[in-house]
Amino acid sequence: MNIQEKQAKTILTPAAGFVSEFSHTLNPYSGCAFGCKYCYVREMPIARFRDEEWGTWVDVKKNAAELLPKEIQKARKKGPVTIFLSTATDPYQPAESKYEITRSLLEAMLLEPPDFLFVQTRSPLAKRDVDLFQQFGKKIRVSMTIETDLEKIRKLFTPSAPPIAARLSALKEITEAGVPTQAAISPLLPCTKNIARVLREVTSRAVIDNFFMGDGSRGKRTEKMGIRKIYEDHDLLSWYDPDAYKFVLELLKQEFDDVELLISNQGFVP
Ligand code: SF4
Repeated sequence: MNIQEKQAKTILTPAAGFVSEFSHTLNPYSGCAFGCKYCYVREMPIARFRDEEWGTWVDVKKNAAELLPKEIQKARKKGPVTIFLSTATDPYQPAESKYEITRSLLEAMLLEPPDFLFVQTRSPLAKRDVDLFQQFGKKIRVSMTIETDLEKIRKLFTPSAPPIAARLSALKEITEAGVPTQAAISPLLPCTKNIARVLREVTSRAVIDNFFMGDGSRGKRTEKMGIRKIYEDHDLLSWYDPDAYKFVLELLKQEFDDVELLISNQGFVP
């Protein structure tokens, strides 16, 4: 893994696309060690203009927490500041254990609070920061990506991402600490009919999307990245269907009062 420390010029970015309900996005790192095969960031300029393969490099924004307070103050002059952390990296990828950039950003935000903070991750490391999450009260939601309940499917699509059981356990811990949470089935991968019940044991809210409503190009970007071949090679093609989510959505509705279908057409959560 090529990890480099960098000085960022700015840290808050005006939100657009699938996160346009937020005012800003916040990415403590560039690049992502999890390197999910379906990650749409692979096709974005930030990844395409590098010679290195997506998933093999991470730039650490060392000065992120120094920049943030002033940028929040400035942004607040234009209206409510609602932040999505993160859109193009995982804020709790392995480098965070050492560098604690995300933790330093949370500490900075407790001194200069945004109106709302949304934390998106697939890493159990997030539970390390539960003490800080709690201090945001209701002005935070921690969202854990759990696209399947089958570990063998997770390994096919995201071999370098954390195991499903560890994510479930971390999400449960964060929820039980009183922090608002959700499970993000995003994008939906082949799963069992138990998925809704399993998720309901660890959170009270679930969201779901798939490659066709969530990759920003009605599935074309996913097709170009060759994801169909994984389904073909493992006899899973019935799941590579724009309507396959309906069955899982119904299961979720039976278990959850709070379920949302994410039809953004701009990109599933990273
Ligand atoms: S989908 Fe998220 S966790 Fe996976 S490589 Fe992309 S940014 Fe990282």
